[in-house]
Amino acid sequence: MNTPRIEINLSKIQKNSEYLVQKLKKKGISTIGVTKAVCGDPAIALAIISGGVTGLADSRIENVTRMREAGIISDITMIRTPMKGQIQLIVDSCDFSYNTEISVIEALAYNALKKGKIHNIVLMVEMGDLREGIMPNDLEEYFKRIVQIPGINIAGIGTNFACLNKTAPNQKSMSLFSKIIDRLKSKYEANIKIISGGNSASLSWVFSNNNLNQINELRLGESILLGSDPISGNPVQGLYTDAFTLISEVIESKKKPEFRKTSSAKTNSTYFKENDQVILAIGNQDTDANSLVFPNGFTFVGATSDHLVLNTSNLKVKIGAECRMKMNYNSLMKIMNSPTVEKKYL
Ligand SMILES: *Cc1c(COP(=O)(O)O)cnc(C)c1O
Repeated sequence: MNTPRIEINLSKIQKNSEYLVQKLKKKGISTIGVTKAVCGDPAIALAIISGGVTGLADSRIENVTRMREAGIISDITMIRTPMKGQIQLIVDSCDFSYNTEISVIEALAYNALKKGKIHNIVLMVEMGDLREGIMPNDLEEYFKRIVQIPGINIAGIGTNFACLNKTAPNQKSMSLFSKIIDRLKSKYEANIKIISGGNSASLSWVFSNNNLNQINELRLGESILLGSDPISGNPVQGLYTDAFTLISEVIESKKKPEFRKTSSAKTNSTYFKENDQVILAIGNQDTDANSLVFPNGFTFVGATSDHLVLNTSNLKVKIGAECRMKMNYNSLMKIMNSPTVEKKYL
């Protein structure tokens, strides 16, 4: 079999999706599956859908197009505020888009009306991640202006946590978020259907709280795909953490002196340590090599664009042997985007 390749266990992804969908349903929360880490891979998207999610979401229109061309007809939400050149495509192929800028919403409206459509948007509110979002104090002003725009329906209000800054949602931020929405709803008699409370980083807050206020949706990528919590990296109980395995080939195996950055005369003359070292044929061009998880007995030394160097306690590694590795979110998303890594579905 060819290397490097990534083995993708679709049934584990489906089971993760189903487990989270069912568990959240009991809390009155619907689940959106986020496909950006796998570049909108249609087979994976279908596995997530068969777990029972109410829709998919992605941050790149190219990924959405890929899924639409593969025949996926589920609702798809664009979760990054649209770029100017992609407005028409987003109106055509996405059922919802996340927005924070009036000029972009006006452009969406113009393009929607041209097609005789109403485009659904979710307004994002900044609740502490300091990435995208309208500041909470400005939301009402935005809301008042946007409800006037023909061609646009404010379908929801959303917030996001722990993407840029590793701040988890807590009772304080979540009840503030709900309070803001309460106010809009009562003051403007607004029918805001979707209250989207965050991503995989919100799961522990949701599972450990009985009062979820207004929240009725989460958007999940990492937990469905990797079974892990984005903040701690720890496994989420009940989920498979091994749906993806990266396989690379050993192309060199030799004893090498240990690398020293500072060659002081003393260390050079007295002691020269040797290590058993192997090289795998993969590198930083394909993935975030530093964050791969190696088998027992292998430790990461370094990586360049196409070589990954490991120390090993076991020199009986044969040339051509396969090394199986687990990935975190960063290494997975780059592997999925690498055209030279074969995708093998199990
Ligand atoms: C990436 C992203 C998600 C999914 O995050 P995970 O940590 O993978 O669950 C949800 N919402 C937004 C806005 C995102 O950008």
